[in-house]
Amino acid sequence: MLEEKQLQKRTGNLVFKNAWDYDPAPESSGHIQLRETYDLFINGEFTAPEEGRYFATTNPASEQKIADVAEATKPDIDKAVQAARNAYNKTWGKLSGRERGKYIYRIARMLQERAREFAIIESMDGGKPIRESRDADIPLVAAYFFYYAGWADKLQYAVPGVEPKPYGVAGQIIPWNFPMLMAAWKIAPALATGNTVVIKSAETTPLTAYKLAEIIQDAGLPPGTVNIVSGAGETGAEIVNHPDIDKIAFTGSTDVGKLIQKSLAGTKKGYTLELGGKAANIVFEDAALDQAVEGIVNGIFFNQGHVCCAGSRLLVQEGVADKVYHKLKDRIETLIVGDPLDKNTDIGAINSKSQLERINHFIEKGLEEGGEMHQSSAEVPSNGYWCKPTLFRNVSQSHSIVQSEIFGPVLAIQTFRTPKEAVEKANNTPYGLSGGIWTDKGSKIFQMGQNLRAGVVWANTFNKFDPTSPFGGYKESGIGREGGLHGLLPYLKIN
Ligand code: NAP
Ligand code: MG
Repeated sequence: MLEEKQLQKRTGNLVFKNAWDYDPAPESSGHIQLRETYDLFINGEFTAPEEGRYFATTNPASEQKIADVAEATKPDIDKAVQAARNAYNKTWGKLSGRERGKYIYRIARMLQERAREFAIIESMDGGKPIRESRDADIPLVAAYFFYYAGWADKLQYAVPGVEPKPYGVAGQIIPWNFPMLMAAWKIAPALATGNTVVIKSAETTPLTAYKLAEIIQDAGLPPGTVNIVSGAGETGAEIVNHPDIDKIAFTGSTDVGKLIQKSLAGTKKGYTLELGGKAANIVFEDAALDQAVEGIVNGIFFNQGHVCCAGSRLLVQEGVADKVYHKLKDRIETLIVGDPLDKNTDIGAINSKSQLERINHFIEKGLEEGGEMHQSSAEVPSNGYWCKPTLFRNVSQSHSIVQSEIFGPVLAIQTFRTPKEAVEKANNTPYGLSGGIWTDKGSKIFQMGQNLRAGVVWANTFNKFDPTSPFGGYKESGIGREGGLHGLLPYLKIN
């Protein structure tokens, strides 16, 4: 073995501890333009909040402030809704589908042109690895705008036999885990169908929505067509309860979704709720195991497990359980936890201090309840919020970490003997958003897919998205679908 000093001599400044250690490959963020303060985007202009309140948005990898962001209160929401109503009555709502489509295509193209900038800011503000924001989030954002731009002049084919009409003003509330992607899922179909929008970003990740506001300005959309506000839960509640909003689209936790559903009961507002999940990846003995292990790792560890449809449970057939467990152990040992802007990083920063506390709470509970835990030996930076990839086995259906959505890089592993048992275990949670099946047999995929109570079931892959496919959940995972033709319908009155 060469001593560290000898190694340094031979390789310049580079010191390799292991053959699989990579040199840092940071994405440069020098060209990114960020303001020190972001005001609300209302009626086509950046507008100071009425009550003059601002909050800081920080980089969860460094705990440093990035910018101050306006907090919208009731008078601001009133203004935003009024602007959206005017645009609906006088400008956007009067345009033909063909004209609307042109604007949406323009947004999509501009997003593609500025993709790198968006990816970097998404990673800085939210903590996700640049590889994810660059290769998945932002390309998908553009793809959803392109897809819905195509629908704008074809709505009569979406619902044959009826002439669909827009709702009017849509109020939209999004979470922090996919800030831009969730904005695209909401804004693109609303615009394609002729609605106007008031959208609220999440408190910890407001920046890219305001960068999108710049694109909306540059694309020349009539003022008031899209209004973007920021703030905490109270700001969201102002949108939900505003009397001049016609439709609510919410993505977030099941708890808040239930509150929203209660406050909408008895009103004429339409709504869609895209809520939590606790997906099971089901691995059969006949599966390609190395491929399955990659899918499991992609499903729960990349993106820090901050994914509603994350494969946070593994159900593995008994005969291969030990083998899969050891392969997983080996694989997570190679995952790099750290700087989200480093192109080698697999697991970035946990989005916020409170989210890290929530994850740690569940890890402690898992141990208290008798689970056997294994964490990788990854070194994590001293500043910022981090969680090493974590496996739990010897857990049963009643364990909190099997039932609750943790929203972190924590995988609960159980075994099964028969397909029936796998289905029973997979379905036995309050959620039903997604699932995964790994097997060599097509017939098993169809049989399992039919019996899983989940909105999306992936087979021999995981976490794949496409704008043409509907996405949404069963049970407490939500109501309604986003994406594809189905994603148009909640924005249309079809009677
Ligand atoms: P959250 O706490 O429910 O927050 C979601 C959004 O709602 C945020 O903008 C939040 O503002 C706002 N909000 C909070 N309380 C509100 C209230 N009483 N009325 C109106 N709005 C309110 O969820 P999160 O922690 O940000 O996001 C994670 C959750 O989203 C997970 O459960 C995940 O599964 C789910 N999710 C689901 C999907 C899907 O498609 N099914 C996709 C992505 C995420 P603040 O940010 O200021 O709290
Ligand atoms: Mg932030």
